[in-house]
Amino acid sequence: MAKKHEGCAVGIDLGTTYSCVAIWLDEHNRVEIIHNDQGNRTTPSVVAFTHDQRLIGDAAKNQAATNAQNTVFDAKRLIGRKFSDSIVQKDMMLWPFKVNAGVNDKPVITLKYKGEEKQYFAEEISSMILTKMKDIAEAYTGSPVKNAVVTVPAYFNDSQRKATIDAGSIAGLNVIRIINEPTAAAIAYGLDKRSDGKRNIFVFDLGGGTFDVSILSIKGDVFEVKATAGNTHLGGEDFDNRMLNYFVEEFKKKNNVDISGNPKSLRRLRTACERAKRTLSFAFATTVEVDSLCMGIDFSSSITRAKFEEINMDFFNDCMAIVDSCLRDSKICKSDIDDVVLVGGSSRIPKVQDLLLEFFKGKELFMRINPDEAVAYGAAVHAAILSEGFKNVPNLVLQDVTPLSLGIGTGKDVNNVMSVVIPRNTTIPVKKTQIYHTSDCSDALINVYEGERARAPDNNLLGSFVLSCRPNAPRGTPLEVCFSINENGILTVYAKEISTGNTNEITITNDKERLSRFEIQRKIEEAEKYHEEDVKFLKAAKVMSALDSCVYNMKNALKKKDVNLILSPQEIEKIKNAITFAMNLLDKNNQQEEIDVIEGHLNELESMLKPLIAKTNNFIFL
Ligand code: AMP
Repeated sequence: MAKKHEGCAVGIDLGTTYSCVAIWLDEHNRVEIIHNDQGNRTTPSVVAFTHDQRLIGDAAKNQAATNAQNTVFDAKRLIGRKFSDSIVQKDMMLWPFKVNAGVNDKPVITLKYKGEEKQYFAEEISSMILTKMKDIAEAYTGSPVKNAVVTVPAYFNDSQRKATIDAGSIAGLNVIRIINEPTAAAIAYGLDKRSDGKRNIFVFDLGGGTFDVSILSIKGDVFEVKATAGNTHLGGEDFDNRMLNYFVEEFKKKNNVDISGNPKSLRRLRTACERAKRTLSFAFATTVEVDSLCMGIDFSSSITRAKFEEINMDFFNDCMAIVDSCLRDSKICKSDIDDVVLVGGSSRIPKVQDLLLEFFKGKELFMRINPDEAVAYGAAVHAAILSEGFKNVPNLVLQDVTPLSLGIGTGKDVNNVMSVVIPRNTTIPVKKTQIYHTSDCSDALINVYEGERARAPDNNLLGSFVLSCRPNAPRGTPLEVCFSINENGILTVYAKEISTGNTNEITITNDKERLSRFEIQRKIEEAEKYHEEDVKFLKAAKVMSALDSCVYNMKNALKKKDVNLILSPQEIEKIKNAITFAMNLLDKNNQQEEIDVIEGHLNELESMLKPLIAKTNNFIFL
C-alpha cells in the first residue's frame, strides 16, 4: 500500500470560471465545503493586477469591468497548451488581456502591475488561484495546509496535467494526486447513494470552460471508471460568448458602433450576458441592459430562451455526440445506466437536461449534490484517503482510465503510422511493453504521441528521444518500448535495445513546454514574495480602516454638548491635534506609508479614545 501523507489535506476543484475547496471532517464524518472571505462557497478563478495591489477571486472579478486589460480569467484554457494552438488563437480574440508567444511557443500573458509591465505563464496565474484556495482553507483550519488533491478535466492531456502540478508547486502545495473531475463527482454521488449491488452511473459535467463525461461502475467500495470522454473547450463561457456576439451585432446594426475591439465594453456586456443566461434557466425571456456601453450609448435588449437555445444548439449537439461516443466506448448499454449525475453549473440549462432526458429515455437526472461543489467534495474525500490519521474516511478504491490513446510513430513520412501502446480508456496505473524493429541501421528516434488519429503526426507529439543502438546494428534490430502511466495519469516511456541492454528514457520531466525545476523554484520564491505583499497590503488596509473609524468616533464624541464639562480644554486640544494628524494620514491614502507608523498612531488614538469613552460612557457609541 502507498505511503500516506502527513498533515492536513484538502480537495481543490480548480475550475475554469470558479474554484472550490473542501475538507474531510473526520470527527463529523462528512465533507465541509469551505467558505471564502466573502462567505461564498465558490471563488472566481480570476486574478487582477492594479497600480498598487494584486487581487484574487471575488475582489478581482468585481473590478474586472474597470481594469479589463489587467484582469486574467480562463487561465485553465491556456494551461499546458501552445500559443499556436488553434484553440488559443480563437480564445485570444475574446480576451481583453494580452497573450504572446514565449520561448518554445509557450503562451505568455502580459500585464501592468504597479506601473510596470509583467509577464506570467498560465501556471503562475493558476498558482495564484491555488494560493487563494490554500489561504481559504488555512483560515478555516487555523493551521498550514500543505497537501492537496487537485482535479482536472478527464480529457486533460499529459502536458496539461503536468502544468497543473507545477501550478500547485508554485503555490507551495504538494499535489498528492491529480484526479479527474467526473470521477471526483462520482465519489460525491456514490457516498450519497450507497447500495450493495453494482450500479452503472453516467456523470455529465458541463462547467464554465470544459465538458467531461464518464461512465463508472460502483460496486461496494470500488469505483471503476469504464470510459471517459469530453472536450476541454466546451462550456458556459462558450454560451456566453455566443450571446455576446449576438448582441455585439445587434449594437452594431442599431448604432453603427462596433465594440468588438473595445475590451471594457466587451467585458461589461459579457457579464450581463452571463447573468441573462442564468436567468433563462428558469425564465422564458429576459432583458439585457448596460448603461453607457460605448461612446455614451446605453444598451437595452431582450432575449428568449428559444433564441438562446438556437444560437447554442450546435454546442448542445456536440455535448450529446460525446455522450454517445463515451457510451459506445464503455460497451455498456444505455438501458444499463442506473443513474445520470449532473455536475457543473451549465448542467442547469433546461435544453441540456431535455436532450439528456430524451437520450436516456426519461431516466431521472440526479441533481441532489450541488453541481458546483460535487467535484471539490469528491477531491476532499480522496485527499483524506491518501492522508494519515483519519479514522472515519470511507475506504473506497478508485480505478480511473487514461483518456487518450498513447503510442509511438512508426515508419517514415506518409507511412508514419501511430502504433498504439496504451489504448484510451485503459485502467491506470498501467505499464505496457511492446517490441519494435528498427527500420534502418542508425540510432532509433522514438516519437511519443497521444491521440486517436491513424497518422502519427496528426496526433499530439508529447516528446522524442534517441535510443543509441550498437554500431552497425542491422535493420530490424529489436527494441523494447515500455509505457507506464502513474495514478496522476502522467506518462513515462523508456526504450531498450534488447541485444546490448542500452536504454533511454523519455525526458518528459524536462519537456520543452514544461517549466524547468529551476524556473519553478524561481516562481515559488516570486509567489512567496507576492503573498507577503498581499498580506502587507491587507494589513495596511485594515489599519487604515480602523484609523478611519477611530477618527469618526472621536469626532462624534467631541460633538456632544457636555464634552466641555467632562474634558479640559487641553485634553480637547490634544485630541483635536491627534484627529488632524490622523486625517492627514488618511487623506494621503498612502499605502506605502510604513504600516508600523500608522499602527502606532492608531494605538495612540485608541488609548485617547478609551478614557474619553469611560468619561462620556452614556452618550458615546462605538
Ligand atoms: P462550474 O465551472 O461548474 O463552476 O460552472 C460555471 C458555469 O456554469 C458558468 O459558465 C456559469 O455561467 C454556469 N452556470 C451557473 N449557473 C447556471 C444556471 N443557472 N444556468 C446556466 N448556466 C449556469
